[in-house]
Amino acid sequence: MGRSISQDAVHKQSLDDPKAFWGKHAEALYWHKKPSVVLKEGHKTIATDIKHPHWSWFPDGQISTDYNCLDRHVQAGYGDKTAIIWDSPVTKTKQKYTYSQVLAEVESLAAVLRNEGVEKGDVVLIYMPMIPAALFGILATVRLGAIHAVVFGGFAPASLAQRIEASKARVILTASCGIEGTKKPTSYQPFVRGAVETSQWKPEKIIVWQREQSLWENLSESKGERDWQKLVELAKENGDSAQSVPINSGDGLYIIYTSGTTGLPKGVLRYAGGHAVGLMLSMAYLFGIRGPGDVMFCASDIGWVVGHAYILYAPLLAGATTILFEGKPVGTPDAGTFWRILSEYNVNTLFTAPTALRAIRREDPENKHFTRYGERGGFKNLQALFLAGERSEPSIVSMYQDLIKKYARTGAQVIDHWWSSESGSPMTGIALMPSKGDVSGNESEDVPLQMKAGSAGKPMPGWNIRVVDDKGGEVGRGTMGNIVLGMPLSPTGFTTLFNDEERFYKGYLKRFDGKWLDTGDAGMIDQDGYVHVMSRSDDIINVAAHRFSTGSIEQVITANPSIAESCVVGIPDALKGQLPFAFVTLSAADHPSSPIPSEELFKSVQDSIRTQIGGIAALGGMIQGKGMIPKTRSGKTLRRVLRELVENAVHGDFEAEVQYPATIEDAATIDVARAKIREYFEQKGSKLHKAIEDRPKAKL
Ligand code: AMP
Repeated sequence: MGRSISQDAVHKQSLDDPKAFWGKHAEALYWHKKPSVVLKEGHKTIATDIKHPHWSWFPDGQISTDYNCLDRHVQAGYGDKTAIIWDSPVTKTKQKYTYSQVLAEVESLAAVLRNEGVEKGDVVLIYMPMIPAALFGILATVRLGAIHAVVFGGFAPASLAQRIEASKARVILTASCGIEGTKKPTSYQPFVRGAVETSQWKPEKIIVWQREQSLWENLSESKGERDWQKLVELAKENGDSAQSVPINSGDGLYIIYTSGTTGLPKGVLRYAGGHAVGLMLSMAYLFGIRGPGDVMFCASDIGWVVGHAYILYAPLLAGATTILFEGKPVGTPDAGTFWRILSEYNVNTLFTAPTALRAIRREDPENKHFTRYGERGGFKNLQALFLAGERSEPSIVSMYQDLIKKYARTGAQVIDHWWSSESGSPMTGIALMPSKGDVSGNESEDVPLQMKAGSAGKPMPGWNIRVVDDKGGEVGRGTMGNIVLGMPLSPTGFTTLFNDEERFYKGYLKRFDGKWLDTGDAGMIDQDGYVHVMSRSDDIINVAAHRFSTGSIEQVITANPSIAESCVVGIPDALKGQLPFAFVTLSAADHPSSPIPSEELFKSVQDSIRTQIGGIAALGGMIQGKGMIPKTRSGKTLRRVLRELVENAVHGDFEAEVQYPATIEDAATIDVARAKIREYFEQKGSKLHKAIEDRPKAKL
């Protein structure tokens, strides 16, 4: 020992010789047919003369992800290890399942699905709440070599219908209800029936998990509706069980519809082989979860890519324990729920979204809950708190960094890491166990890099991350631009959209002529190679020909201790083209009702923007209010919605309709924002130039 390998060196290995690198990491899995080729690269021709790069990982390999998640561990003698812990404060239930128990459930359910007509290559749509049956349903689908499309439980019928039609699902797995936070159970029956009625495509069967909190009334045999528990019981009585069916490495494992803020959802197709290899490596390398006995708590939803990967697949591929949480960061019952879970189950790694931490900070600004569990030694095993989904402002990273330094394992870090539905696994981060990526064969010890607040860490293996200008030319270190990817992407990455090659080309490759794949994100790589993801490219604002990311301005605003959350959008300005305009929520328990911030607060924010970014980025206005920043259910701020509202207001229109995606967490926030904007503009004068009179003179 004594030698350590750096994350940079592992990354270099992966790009210099991808075949050697991924070929070695593929050995960690069981292949029904070992791949003889690691990577095949070429081109695909679509429609009229358009050719674009295409590649496939492990093209002649055959694999069953299900076998690797379950059978492999049971056969290796880990059947009694805990696979899944279900913690559901909303139903006051806690349950544990060992690997053997999960395997037994999945074998029976897969037999049921087979009897109901599901075959290899069919699509099964899964519309479920956060209960163990949802995970069994996904695994049973995969066991048969079928493809799952998990749709976030609670989507309205129209959105669900779109996804049924797009995926041409043969069967739907669902439950009688979902339970969100402290609200009454939501019956899924009208949603699912309504969606099937609207959809042109009709699934043959709807298999319903009955929850006692609200039953699916009068299951209709003629509509193909079936009682899940009864079918499984019968299968168990008959000793019906299904073996895992391997599929080609390049066959689809799942389709995930991206949240997208407008337009039709895009179905990202994930391939079996590359997905399993990439996730398996990431578990130990990035997240520090080594195998049986280690516990991962990913507080996401199974409807999102993060939930697919780190609630389900990666922890089970590694043989570790995963926590399935049915609740919210606050309100179920309080802002201490996450911290209770960490201490109750000795969690090693927590993964959540910054929005969850903001919600907790708002409820518990003094971190009383965290401190209470910390002082009792509840975070002894905690080695990292991973954040993703949107940018984490440095103020939240530093706050939790200070807390975990005090109470968690020595060296524990808060790690912002960047990824997307398209990437399927993290593209950046801080690797907790760099030695696990090293393919040089030398023994080495783990010395993780230090996180830099404001960055999302450094590239993960296989991700060739570059920053380019609008013409595709690379910009220097420290310069903002479009974040793009060199191809081939790392093995978990997508290579097309489900049944929509043209949209794949137009949406991701056309902009840079097939040379780079456009991530849609903007940011920079700093002098030390850390990647800073500042915002979506659409959220870049142009003030007097200077480009700013809204993220960098928000970062300065949220550093102000009296501000809990902020959202910056660009508004039209006759002189400068655009001006930044901020929406803020204060940390005060008694939030002032006026939308106009105190002069003192406004001045202090402007002063910090002026000193940290420059006078040119000074705000054109700032509205304060609670519950007015719309977000998606996966925690992304919907800046476009606020931008449209404020743009309309600038033109004196306070009523204009705005489009918002079906993934919105709470549509009522839009009404609150609308009312605040109106109040603000009416008090300041109906037109923007009045509203910005108090804008300090820019020092250029
Ligand atoms: P989705 O496909 O719904 O997972 O959304 C992916 C998008 O979320 C990315 O393209 C980014 O815009 C954003 N995102 C995810 N993680 C981060 C992060 N750590 N920092 C900044 N943006 C992020």
